[in-house]
Amino acid sequence: MSDCIFCKIIKGEIPSKKVYETEKVYAFYDIKPEAPIHVLIVPKVHISSHNELNPENVDVMKDIHLAANEIAKELGISESGYRLINNCGEAAGQTVFHLHYHLVGGTSMGSKIL
Ligand code: AMP
Ligand code: ZN
Repeated sequence: MSDCIFCKIIKGEIPSKKVYETEKVYAFYDIKPEAPIHVLIVPKVHISSHNELNPENVDVMKDIHLAANEIAKELGISESGYRLINNCGEAAGQTVFHLHYHLVGGTSMGSKIL
């Protein structure tokens, strides 16, 4: 997707602070962090939202979840705890339409979802 900001980040056309990378996944610090640790984990392939996951492309979710575990360990929040959040669609607050997971932690967030 030529006009997708996260595709541009993955290609290095827009700078980012890389946290982690594999063949299928790229992770970088969110530009407007909402917690002491706020990382975005994205598939390198363009998938516009969780709605667009299907039997052909869902394998990348395995890599995303394993990346989250590795990053949480590397950043020292594996034991204290963290949230892995996906916003799907406008009502959920999705603003960038390239599938991504927010990994947030480094603070006590309580038990509320909303
Ligand atoms: P969402 O609202 O779930 O679509 O999340 C999009 C996230 O992307 C927001 O938390 C933004 O702060 C973040 N974001 C947007 N542009 C950039 C960028 N150039 N570098 C890093 N994070 C970004
Ligand atoms: Zn994209």
